[in-house]
Amino acid sequence: MDVDFTPEDNAFRDEVRRFIKENYPKHLVGADRADISKEDFLAWQKILHTKGWVAPSWPVEYGGTGWTVTQKYIFNEESAHFGTIAPLPFGVQMLGPVIYTFGNQQQKDQVLPGILSGETWWCQGYSEPGAGSDLASLKTKAVRDGDTYVVNGHKMWTTLAQYADWMFCLVRTAKTEKRQNGISFLLIDMQTPGITVRPIITIDGSHEVNEVFLEDVRVPAANLVGEQDKGWTIAKFLLGNERSGIAGVARSKKAIDRLRDIARGELEDGAPLLDSGDFSRKIAALEVDLTALEYTELRTLAAESKGQGPGPESSILKIKGTEIQQRITELTMEAVGNYASPWVPQMDAGDNYLAIGPEASHGASQTYFNTRKTSIYGGSNEIQRNIIAKMVLGL
Ligand SMILES: Cc1cc2nc3c(=O)[nH]c(=O)nc-3n(C[C@H](O)[C@H](O)[C@H](O)COP(=O)(O)OP(=O)(O)OC[C@H]3O[C@@H](n4cnc5c(N)ncnc54)[C@H](O)[C@@H]3O)c2cc1C
Repeated sequence: MDVDFTPEDNAFRDEVRRFIKENYPKHLVGADRADISKEDFLAWQKILHTKGWVAPSWPVEYGGTGWTVTQKYIFNEESAHFGTIAPLPFGVQMLGPVIYTFGNQQQKDQVLPGILSGETWWCQGYSEPGAGSDLASLKTKAVRDGDTYVVNGHKMWTTLAQYADWMFCLVRTAKTEKRQNGISFLLIDMQTPGITVRPIITIDGSHEVNEVFLEDVRVPAANLVGEQDKGWTIAKFLLGNERSGIAGVARSKKAIDRLRDIARGELEDGAPLLDSGDFSRKIAALEVDLTALEYTELRTLAAESKGQGPGPESSILKIKGTEIQQRITELTMEAVGNYASPWVPQMDAGDNYLAIGPEASHGASQTYFNTRKTSIYGGSNEIQRNIIAKMVLGL
């Protein structure tokens, strides 16, 4: 794998950097994802859509960019460096590849344009109260009635369902001995009568996840993706794409730079914390792990460019990527010390109160608590270790 940049690559980097600088909405620079509105969430995606840059990993015929692996890497790096709000993963990263791989022509025509433009906000209806790690035990039932399915059940932890127009949903359509065999993949309009979304407020105080109740929800049979009872293959394919996307290498690089700045400004025994051997060793260890992860991600991207989808290696990316994200938030708490304790949200320009502690400490504890989720969602890290043991190591 050649990782040197050519003059063309460097010219591409300049183009991306210039485009972001000139077009990224000013009011979103430095904005925290947790505090923004639906419109703000989608603002950058809409600009990227006009430029044709929303879905670099999709095939060109469906709206992809046709970029090389290196160009995709550069685009990710520059986006992370600037801190842009990435397009919604539920559509671009998860459902889109499912539709162009398993969907019929009508589904491709109806679903893909709305994902790219951001007009359709998708949420993921996989988990249930009794089905998370053991996803195949899901009980939400869909019974065929003429040309519709009647769906009853309870989905759990549905991220940003409060904004969603549609949900891609795993449902049980048959009771078979092997539980995986009776699962189907349905697309459900969130406006359909019988759907109730109830918020769950998480430990950091944010409203990110929800419960979704489905009572006699009638879904056109045309919204079934693939064959009835054969949705498990699709479900796993989608999870592979979800996990690869969670690694967030480029964004962690930027976060480590910020951590170093914080440590430069904080004092320990009168000297910058960054000069403390103990703290700088911790940052160095983080960087070593992140660099190793970066090369693993590049290998995955190189394989993808040869048409090999993300396999069980995406579990490695998920584990290491999320552990690094959590370690960064832990070290940030350590660096700002007691100032991490007050519940100070990130300040807006119009706020007329004085926050306690240095700016770097504002929101540090919320971010720390919020980031506990990363080793749980997309399949917990314990489950990823099981997958690696079985599928990669053959144990
Ligand atoms: C912030 C957040 C957002 C989420 N968003 C979504 C979403 O949008 N859509 C969606 O469908 N789901 C979503 N999820 C759900 C997520 O996928 C599940 O929480 C996850 O799969 C774990 O399932 P569970 O919560 O039922 O825990 P459980 O499966 O009950 O697991 C509990 C603990 O036991 C461990 N464990 C379980 N089985 C094993 C085993 N066989 N070996 C070793 N350890 C085991 C787990 O690792 C975990 O630590 C989200 C979760 C979070 C926290």
